[in-house]
Amino acid sequence: MPVTRSQIAHRTLTGRCPNCGRFGIFKNWFRLHPACPGCGMQLEKEESGFYFGTTSIGYVLAIVLVIIPVCILVVLDKLGMWLGVAIGIVGSLLLCTLLYPVLLCWVLMLYYTVQADELPANRPGSDDE
Ligand SMILES: [Zn+2]
Repeated sequence: MPVTRSQIAHRTLTGRCPNCGRFGIFKNWFRLHPACPGCGMQLEKEESGFYFGTTSIGYVLAIVLVIIPVCILVVLDKLGMWLGVAIGIVGSLLLCTLLYPVLLCWVLMLYYTVQADELPANRPGSDDE
């Protein structure tokens, strides 16, 4: 196939279109453009799935990286309970917000490496690069 899985992984993890490798698939911090500005590939076909997956990974990361360490500190009496709660809430929100585009790239990477034949460039009859 014209676009290999390792190319797809490299492109999506650097925030580029999996199909043509161009930058600019992000409309803003939290959203993708409906289609790639370079090749026109539909990016919103699985939109709800992408965003749902990204939010889920964000929750899991927040629990592992913020909530659990804060709980341990509270249990060990290194941190007051209400301060711990406040840090947990603010920290989780910040983590999810700051990492959102990175996580979205991971979800795109997972989706398109698993379904590499779904890319327009990999469909039979398309122009090879
Ligand atoms: Zn593209």
